[in-house]
Amino acid sequence: MSCELGHIFAAPALNAIARHTDVEASIRELMAASATRLLDSMMIVADSCAPFVAVEQSHVKLPVAQPPVLHGVRALVEEIAVDGFGPHAMRFFGMLGSIMVSLAGTAVQVAQVMSWVDAGLTGTFCMTDRGGPLASQWRSCATTGSPVKLTVDKVWAMNASRADFALIVVRRGNSMILAPVLLAPDVYAQAATQPSGAAFLDGHLPLANVQAMLEAEPSWFLNEGGPISPKIFLTLARPWLVQALCSHLAWLARHNRIVLNAEMGERVAFLRQAAQNQANLGVFDRFSEDQAMALKWIANEIFAELVVSGAVRHKGDQRDLLGFSKMEGSSYRCFFEIYERNKKLRRVDG
Ligand SMILES: Cc1cc2nc3c(=O)[nH]c(=O)nc-3n(C[C@H](O)[C@H](O)[C@H](O)COP(=O)(O)OP(=O)(O)OC[C@H]3O[C@@H](n4cnc5c(N)ncnc54)[C@H](O)[C@@H]3O)c2cc1C
Repeated sequence: MSCELGHIFAAPALNAIARHTDVEASIRELMAASATRLLDSMMIVADSCAPFVAVEQSHVKLPVAQPPVLHGVRALVEEIAVDGFGPHAMRFFGMLGSIMVSLAGTAVQVAQVMSWVDAGLTGTFCMTDRGGPLASQWRSCATTGSPVKLTVDKVWAMNASRADFALIVVRRGNSMILAPVLLAPDVYAQAATQPSGAAFLDGHLPLANVQAMLEAEPSWFLNEGGPISPKIFLTLARPWLVQALCSHLAWLARHNRIVLNAEMGERVAFLRQAAQNQANLGVFDRFSEDQAMALKWIANEIFAELVVSGAVRHKGDQRDLLGFSKMEGSSYRCFFEIYERNKKLRRVDG
């Protein structure tokens, strides 16, 4: 066996995936190597490094209704395999955004967004904050009390400079509670946007920064579904994102833009199967967040390995795949969150 420490620290993620898909040795090796590189100082110095105990079952299982828009998402995953991700990216992410609104919005808010989409308008989802990754560092916040003062200072949001409306996640007051806010077209028109870097996917996917200072109406906030709704959203959305990315890899391979050797081909096939199995689970339980993060971590490592090994011919495609290995959770972020949730579950004889 290769690095024992890496296998120990990759185990919680791989155990979560093994609940729905057998994890082959080549994936175990890839993830053990990744975990070995990602171990941070705190883990190396202070962790017991004992093997993790796999939890057998979850006592609380919340059935998650499959939103109807997932039929459209499934169809787009097929179309991406034919045309590549570029021409379909905005529609794909727009559909994922509408799932967030359906989980956290009132019937009125959902109907509003549907009417904008039906009228051909597009939205943007702004999460990444200029202040840094921790909620305590966020500059984007809404004051409590009345009137509500809303400060928006977001970076790297897809389509932000072309979008008509926006879903923006902000901090409420000094609490660490995050709240999504819906900015209607007439309100979002008041925000300032600046393009950020070259567009991804052959020019189809531009990112931009967004700034605004506004007086917000209470009706702009998406409060339905409670604080668990963003978690449910991410567990629903990530397996579809990973399937879309696998379709994009298939398209790149067909156009000779990546060369998959047998082992990488098998890893990509595993990733697609695991993403499909995960998308079909239909429940939210104590394993769901680890499963979503583990799937993204495996995807990140496969993309990075393709780039590092020289399998991706063009610089633009290399940048796209490395970009996708960061969005919705970099490897360190996924690894760290899974570790945090599992670190107390250790074998005492380890
Ligand atoms: C193509 C693309 C599209 C995007 N679209 C959107 C969008 O629509 N909306 C939006 O809001 N955002 C978007 N983003 C931004 C993206 O979501 C962020 O890049 C992502 O959120 C970064 O967050 P992270 O916390 O996972 O990763 P990181 O930035 O990698 O890490 C977070 C923190 O962990 C630390 N860290 C990282 N690696 C290590 C390590 N090895 N050891 C110790 N510490 C480490 C970092 O210093 C940082 O503090 C997009 C990005 C890309 C590339």
